[in-house]
Amino acid sequence: MSVRLYPLRTGSVRLKAAQCARKPGGPLRVLVDPQWSDPLPIYAWLIDHPEGPIVVDTGETCRAMIPGYFPTWHPYYRWAVEMDVGEEDEIGHRLSRLGIAPSDVRTVVLTHFHTDHAGGLPHFPRSRIWVSSGELDVAQGFLGRIRGYLPNRWPSGLDLRKIPFGRESFGPFQAGYPLTQSGDVTIVPTPGHTPGHVSVLVSIDGVGYFLAGDASYSERALLESLPDGVTTDPRKAIETLERILLFASQRPLVYLPAHDPESVHRLETRKTLSILRGEGPGS
Ligand SMILES: [Zn+2]
Repeated sequence: MSVRLYPLRTGSVRLKAAQCARKPGGPLRVLVDPQWSDPLPIYAWLIDHPEGPIVVDTGETCRAMIPGYFPTWHPYYRWAVEMDVGEEDEIGHRLSRLGIAPSDVRTVVLTHFHTDHAGGLPHFPRSRIWVSSGELDVAQGFLGRIRGYLPNRWPSGLDLRKIPFGRESFGPFQAGYPLTQSGDVTIVPTPGHTPGHVSVLVSIDGVGYFLAGDASYSERALLESLPDGVTTDPRKAIETLERILLFASQRPLVYLPAHDPESVHRLETRKTLSILRGEGPGS
């Protein structure tokens, strides 16, 4: 059995234009920007692997449509985001349709804890949930809620595991944690969108598939090294995008952000980033 990669679309989200591409004023500008994006997909991913299925991100829950699920006191949820998630969009249904029971998924990786990536956690009460320690630190508790995370919505008793990144770098990335014995699935730190954001690299037949979470909202934003409007550290976000571009200049890489409408087309056609070897970022 070979490794297969499947998109799991868990509904749509509309964001402010100033969130998709940073404008002067940063996060405050996002709140007041009158311009909305089109509905963007919310993708999670299934890595159907001989060592067992791996899920990257869990998408949004349809409970997000219930008034009061999001904190009404939080300006971001009040003014800057609109979800559209049906019951059949939830990740449990998406997996079942592919013939995989969520209870068979032993390994889940969260790129970060934002609600449209962690909302499906209730489907995985017995899975091992890998998340970076930096992300766990900022997402928990009262301060986490102020930052827009919803730790009060996480199910209790989750088997949360901190990714044990070593000191050795992985290509241009500061570290890499191999998730499989065969070494074809690797978690890499991609901080910026959130301080502890990670991405997952899957290697299939000599092509790398980069499950980028929200490292950028689109391939175009990556190619232009454009940070988003909600990061608190745009410089770090740009640094991460440049690392990804450098990585893509060294091998064929299909770039798959969670909210890019073109991600699935690129996956199906194995459309790699066309960056000539040696050119590197910024050229
Ligand atoms: Zn996010």
